[in-house]
Amino acid sequence: MGIASVDSVWSVKYGERVVKKSAVFHDYGQYGLPDGDLDMDYNFWLIRSADDVLLMDTGYDIAARDWLGEISVLPTPDGLKLVGVDPLDVKMVVASHFHYDHIGYLGLFEHAEVVAGQREYDYWFGKRDAHTLDGEFTTEQNLVAVEKAKNDGRLRLISEETEVYPGITVYQVGGHCPGETIAKIETKGGPLILASDAAHFYEQLEHGWPFFAFTDLDEMRKALQFIGELAEKAGATVIPGHDARTRQRFPAVPGEPGSVATVLA
Ligand SMILES: [Zn+2]
Repeated sequence: MGIASVDSVWSVKYGERVVKKSAVFHDYGQYGLPDGDLDMDYNFWLIRSADDVLLMDTGYDIAARDWLGEISVLPTPDGLKLVGVDPLDVKMVVASHFHYDHIGYLGLFEHAEVVAGQREYDYWFGKRDAHTLDGEFTTEQNLVAVEKAKNDGRLRLISEETEVYPGITVYQVGGHCPGETIAKIETKGGPLILASDAAHFYEQLEHGWPFFAFTDLDEMRKALQFIGELAEKAGATVIPGHDARTRQRFPAVPGEPGSVATVLA
C-alpha cells in the first residue's frame, strides 16, 4: 500500500438540481418515510500531490444538453480556471464510470492517463458496437474521448484493487454501472473514499438504500456494503458523489464563497 503522498482533495461543483427523495431512492415507499426535496450537486474532484494534479471525473456541458433539468453552475473549463488547473497539466483522470455527467469534458485532458474499470469499458463499448445506446445515460459522442485515450495508449483499465498512483487505490464495483470505480485516497488527515455514483447521497451510505438508476440492483447493494466495510477497515471518510450536504460538512476553498470549490482533505 502506498504512503500518504496526496496534499489535497477538493470537490468542484459544476451543476445542480433539486430532486424528490421518492424519485432518486429505489422503491422509497417501502421505508414508510415522508417524501421531500434533496439538493443534488454535480461535481468533479481535484487531487493534488507535491508533483501532480489528478482528477476524478470531468463533468459535462449542461448548456449543450440538460439531460434531467440540471442547472449549470460553472462549466468544467471555468471550474478548472477557478482552481488554477490547466487541463493539459493533468496527469491522470480516474473516470468513475461512463455516464454523461462524469466524462463529458474528458477530451480536454489530452495528456492524462485515463483510469477506468474493465467491466465499464466492455459494457459501454459493447453497447456502442451493438448500437444499443438509445435511452442510456451516455452517448456514442461521450465515448469518443475514452476511445481516443485508448488509441493514444493512455487508457488504463483495472479489474481489481489497484494502486494507480502513490496513495490512490481504485476499486471496481457494480450496480449503478457494471464497472464503476471508487477511489481510496491517503491524505494527511486520514483516508478518504470518493464514491462517485456508487453512492450518490449520504442516505445510501447510512441505510444502504439503492439509487433508482442501476444495471444490477443486487450489485448496487453489494457495492454499498463494500464501501461501508472498506471505510470501516481503513477508518476512512466517504464522500458521496452528488450530495449537496458535502459542501456544508466541509469548508470552502479559501477565497471562494463556497458555492463551487470545497476542501475535502
Ligand atoms: Zn452522476
